[in-house]
Amino acid sequence: MYIILLGAPGAGKGTQADNLSSELNLPHIASGDLFREALRKETELGLLAKSYMERGELVPDEVTIKMILHRIEMPDCASGCLFDGFPRTLAQAEALDKGLADKGKSIDKVIYIKVSDEELLKRLGGRWLCRNCQTPYHLITAPPKVPGKCDKCGGELYQREDDKEETVKERLRVFLAQTIPIVDYYRGQSKLIEVNGNQGIQEVAKEIMLLLKAK
Ligand code: ADP
Ligand code: ADP
Ligand code: ZN
Repeated sequence: MYIILLGAPGAGKGTQADNLSSELNLPHIASGDLFREALRKETELGLLAKSYMERGELVPDEVTIKMILHRIEMPDCASGCLFDGFPRTLAQAEALDKGLADKGKSIDKVIYIKVSDEELLKRLGGRWLCRNCQTPYHLITAPPKVPGKCDKCGGELYQREDDKEETVKERLRVFLAQTIPIVDYYRGQSKLIEVNGNQGIQEVAKEIMLLLKAK
C-alpha cells in the first residue's frame, strides 16, 4: 500500500505516521526529515534546501521530486510506503503519480488530517523532536517520560528553528496557497479520507485505522 499523510504543519502527520508505519508495516518517508538529514550532513541538497526551510517556504519542486522519486527506488519501498509531508504541490502530486505508474504502482489512500489554526499554533509552539530518530513530542500533550530524552532511543530532544512564530505563520500561509489544492486532486480520484485531527493522539489514530479498514 502507498499511503499519503496530508495536513498543515503541526497537524500530527509525523505522530500518526509512527503509529501507522508499525500497524501497517510500511516505511515512513518524511520529506522534511530527509531535508534535515541532508542539512546535517551538509550535502549539496541540504545547503540548497536550507534557505527555503529557514524562511518557511517550499523547496523547489524539481529538487524535492527528484529526492523522493530516488528514495522510493530503495528496496524497502517496493511494495508500499507512507508519505509524510510529500506531495505538497500539485506538480509534486502529479510527478508522484507518474513515478509510481512507471513502476506499475499507484497511491491507494490519502489521509487528510484536519486541524484548526488555533490548535496548530499550540502544537508547533510546544513541539520537541528527537535528534536521533525524529520522534515528535509535545511539552503538554505528549511529554517524554524523562525530560529532554527520547522514550524510544534515549536521544536528545530539540526544538526546530522553523517552529518559531514568524516562520510558522509563513508555513501556514504556504500550506493554504500551495498544498490545499491537492486535497481536491485526490478527492477527484476518490482516494481522500478526511480525519478530524482536533482530537487526542489515540482518538485520531483510531479514526484513521477505522476509515482505512472501511474503504
Ligand atoms: P511540518 O511537518 O511541520 O509541516 P516538514 O518537516 O514536513 O514540516 O517540512 C519542513 C520544511 O521542509 C518545509 O517548511 C519546507 O521548507 C521543506 N519541505 C518539506 N517537505 C517538502 C515538500 N514536499 N516540498 C517542498 N518543501 C518541503
Ligand atoms: P506534523 O508532522 O504534521 O508537523 P507532528 O506529528 O510533529 O505534526 O505534531 C506536532 C506537535 O503536536 C508535536 O509536538 C506532537 O507531539 C503534537 N501532537 C500531534 N498530534 C497531536 C494530537 N492529536 N493532540 C495533541 N498534540 C498532538
Ligand atoms: Zn529517538
